[in-house]
Amino acid sequence: MAQITPQPGIMEIALYEGGQSHVEGVNDVLKLSSNENPYGPSPDAKQAIADAIGQIHRYPNTDHLPLREAIAEVHGLDPDRIICGVGSDEIIQFLCQAYAGPGDEVLHTEHGFAMYRISALAAGATPVEAPERERVTDVDALLAACTERTRLVFIANPNNPTGTMIGGNELARLADGLPEQAILVLDGAYAEFVDGYDGGAALVEARENVVMTRTFSKLYGLGGLRVGWGYAPKPIIDVMNRIRMPFNLSELQMAAAIAAIRDRSWAVRCKAENARLRVWLAEELAALGVPSDTSLANFILARFASAAEAEAVDAHLKSRGVIVRRVAGYGLPHCLRITVGDDAGCRRVVEGVRSFR
Ligand code: PMP
Repeated sequence: MAQITPQPGIMEIALYEGGQSHVEGVNDVLKLSSNENPYGPSPDAKQAIADAIGQIHRYPNTDHLPLREAIAEVHGLDPDRIICGVGSDEIIQFLCQAYAGPGDEVLHTEHGFAMYRISALAAGATPVEAPERERVTDVDALLAACTERTRLVFIANPNNPTGTMIGGNELARLADGLPEQAILVLDGAYAEFVDGYDGGAALVEARENVVMTRTFSKLYGLGGLRVGWGYAPKPIIDVMNRIRMPFNLSELQMAAAIAAIRDRSWAVRCKAENARLRVWLAEELAALGVPSDTSLANFILARFASAAEAEAVDAHLKSRGVIVRRVAGYGLPHCLRITVGDDAGCRRVVEGVRSFR
């Protein structure tokens, strides 16, 4: 009898259930469940894809240098410390695969992004959760949860799904307090939405054990194309490049990302619209008795009276074609995570919640 079984831990990973973009029987669907940019990418990115399409019979550039240089130029970084991946998800996966195996622990926050746990389990490691304080990353709790087996510590800053963030001093305190075998990963997927963001680049440059991850999926509107990047000390870049598939990114992905990051005026406009509408959405929902924490990202975490109410509102919105995100899997069953849409999108959410009440 064959004994075909996966590695331990694999069956603990739940199949992904987000990402739906249709509702049975509804034509005009508005998807606000994946924190996408409602305005899409810069028109320059679309043009760059059209321009690059003639070369798709060729394998892509494997060192991603033009993209790394474009990122480095905009952020004032060293291109040799940048690695590009299929979304920042892939960078998270590289880190787990390279640094955490059976017997190792991967630490994340209580309501941290789901991929940390999934990538840890896929690598055979043990995910460990540290409590937050009022839905905010708690550095003391993270440090207290570290053991001699902790290999990676992930925090999203701002965090998904809470939208909350901690400052540069707290990040440095966390980096300083970690055991020497642990890498701190600062996930800045929503960094582009924050004014004066301190993503920890100085920490990456000053220490051996701090990595930063970023994405083109959010502000740059390229979620469907899958491009992310990491900034890390050179020895960690070298390790990740050994497990990275040589052709992980296509020329279409790279060309679009380069054009997107260079179009600063599109980015500035999308960011400003998000900031304006995020406040409006939060205030309108609060006036309907639905509070949320101050979010710095492109979504808000709306809190309802109970899990049953959150579930009923979710179903009601869905019946009106509005898809938001239940976050019960994050331990927040009474909450809904709602992406900040455009003007019409935000109004549709508010009208939907109002008509439920
Ligand atoms: N980190 C966080 C905190 C996220 O919310 C997301 C997207 N949901 C990602 C990483 C991954 O994004 P991507 O793979 O599209 O770059």
